[in-house]
Amino acid sequence: MRPPSLFLIATALTVSSCTDRSNPETEAESPVFTVIDTDFSKGRLGYEQSIDLGDLEKFHGHLCDGLVVGALAMQEAAKTLFPEGPIDRTNLRSVSKPSPCLTDVAVYVTGGRYQFGTFYVDTGFAGEYILQRLDNGTAISVGLNPGVKPSAIDSLGAIAVRGELSPCGIDSLRAMEDAFTDFLLSADPSEIFTVHTLSDFAWEANLKKDYVKSDVVNKALQPCSR
Ligand SMILES: [Zn+2]
Repeated sequence: MRPPSLFLIATALTVSSCTDRSNPETEAESPVFTVIDTDFSKGRLGYEQSIDLGDLEKFHGHLCDGLVVGALAMQEAAKTLFPEGPIDRTNLRSVSKPSPCLTDVAVYVTGGRYQFGTFYVDTGFAGEYILQRLDNGTAISVGLNPGVKPSAIDSLGAIAVRGELSPCGIDSLRAMEDAFTDFLLSADPSEIFTVHTLSDFAWEANLKKDYVKSDVVNKALQPCSR
């Protein structure tokens, strides 16, 4: 299946985050996230920017279902942590599951970086991300609800990561993931993600760095010749 166009994606994401649906062209250009940072290398907080799915795609390298899961998860988390306005990237730290797609969304959107004690990767929690505001300590987890993601994507994906999926099988997996992406972008994120407040979260940054970068393992695969 052909991947959905960025225009359609931007429109769909914007619709899910914008109440003004009167102008489709404006909607397509509307931000997915508004973030706030300092205004120069030693500056004060106050510089606002918008980040959309196209920005995430450029940073990550491609559009994929994992990127959209991450973006929508962040959108839901931001509603809880920053209900009053922009995501303050100076006031946030995050823990991500190790997926290359999820981690890229996390560091881009939250501004968290391992070397500054504001980001690490872990597998020992439920959901996609844990996010914590630094000023008040509020910690939340956000995760896709059980059963939302087709199980075949994970089972075929595991075979693909082992390098054991055929070229035509890889194309079938891509079609499944693209269809899931379309579904995600047409869904109401509040109905497919759940945010939990974590009352006893402990920041325990680890230095584990042997996760498989699963989106490059098949980069030399032959085309499907069926
Ligand atoms: Zn990806």
